[in-house]
Amino acid sequence: MKCEIIAVGTEVILGDILNSNAQYLAKELANLGVDVYYHEAVGDNRERILDCFKRSLDRSDIIITTGGLGPTKDDMTKELAAEFFGMDMCLHEESLQKIKDYFKKMGREFVKSNEKQAYFPKEAIILDNENGTAPGAIFEKDDKAIIVLPGPPKEMEPMFKNHVRKYLEKRTGDTIVSEVLRVFGIGESSAEKKLQDLIDNGKNPTIAPYAKEGEVIFRITAKAKSEEEAKKLINPLKDEVYSRLGDAVYNTGDTTLQDTVAKMLVNKDMTIGVSESCTGGLLSSKLIEYPGISKVFLEGAVTYSNEAKMRTLNVKKETLEKFGAVSHETAKEMAEGIAKRAGARIGVSTTGIAGPTGGTEEKPVGLVYFGIYVDGEVKSYKHIFTGDRNSVRNRASMTALDIIRRSLL
Ligand code: ATP
Ligand code: MG
Repeated sequence: MKCEIIAVGTEVILGDILNSNAQYLAKELANLGVDVYYHEAVGDNRERILDCFKRSLDRSDIIITTGGLGPTKDDMTKELAAEFFGMDMCLHEESLQKIKDYFKKMGREFVKSNEKQAYFPKEAIILDNENGTAPGAIFEKDDKAIIVLPGPPKEMEPMFKNHVRKYLEKRTGDTIVSEVLRVFGIGESSAEKKLQDLIDNGKNPTIAPYAKEGEVIFRITAKAKSEEEAKKLINPLKDEVYSRLGDAVYNTGDTTLQDTVAKMLVNKDMTIGVSESCTGGLLSSKLIEYPGISKVFLEGAVTYSNEAKMRTLNVKKETLEKFGAVSHETAKEMAEGIAKRAGARIGVSTTGIAGPTGGTEEKPVGLVYFGIYVDGEVKSYKHIFTGDRNSVRNRASMTALDIIRRSLL
């Protein structure tokens, strides 16, 4: 089965927005075993959109479009898909009601122009939009199909996941199940190396890596006649990955490292204090993004100067003089200091050189020490990160999260 992705919208053409929808869809389709040979982007123009449809359906079975489902006149993707297949539009009452309900839920006045979003050909399969007003739709004619999806990724992605995936699976006759394993704390290349034979030789299931800001994600995908059968194919491979990567696998599914750690702290009822130098509050902020963290997060301090480290965290003057602020010793005293100050069972600290200036041969840019205090015991770790100031800070705060996680295992 061959599918093409068409981004509709002058904003994409002019470079005002990045066509991230194409990236998302391309990955999802590859996972489903659907071939994608062309991506296209076209402005909000009737002739050019129709021309795109024609060319794409001459050489492929399915088109997926994103964008142009809104209420305004230049939103015309759905209307043109209907025109292309020679279908008439009529009001779909159920969709109209859903759109009205959505407006109500958002506390917004329903505008007459939004009625346009409830018009579909009788033949179309309508796809609910749980995150916006415009429903998507599938138009079928002979062996061909045009699937129209909304432009905003937060509407498009769930619609694809919840409705389009199933439709495509039905067309291919297979059920595709994938499971995501999330890894942190061993570099991307070393994680890949450990799994290289599985990555190279996998047919069904397959395993493939995705890297994301220091995190590594592996997706295992299996194709079978039923979900149960697909899971049976996945499980042994999953066990093999666990046995090779050990605790570096911190979770499965969509749960990020920060949520995993925050949840562990809450579940284990481990109170925490955070003292930060080079991460400047980023670590606290990541933990605080988790709802319910107030039960265990007691205090965070950004102690940038030596004076602040001494005054707030009780770091000794001699330690700073002898070893410097960026050192194992200071990191440990910071971690212990914040735990005691906050009255928490865990104290964690970061102190490093985010750059771009300020590094020396002995203490280069990217050098970060971490302290972790848990119930009276204190340890420290040293890492050297590459990249600009922001990526050093971000990687350092992720690493600190991972250090907290490992201390809770
Ligand atoms: P709306 O009802 O919001 O008008 P729509 O389905 O008509 O949605 P567009 O008007 O084309 O979609 O785009 C709305 C917004 O969706 C854009 O401003 C942009 O933020 C996002 N968007 C559109 N197309 C893409 C794309 N290809 N990749 C990423 N984001 C996109
Ligand atoms: Mg629009």
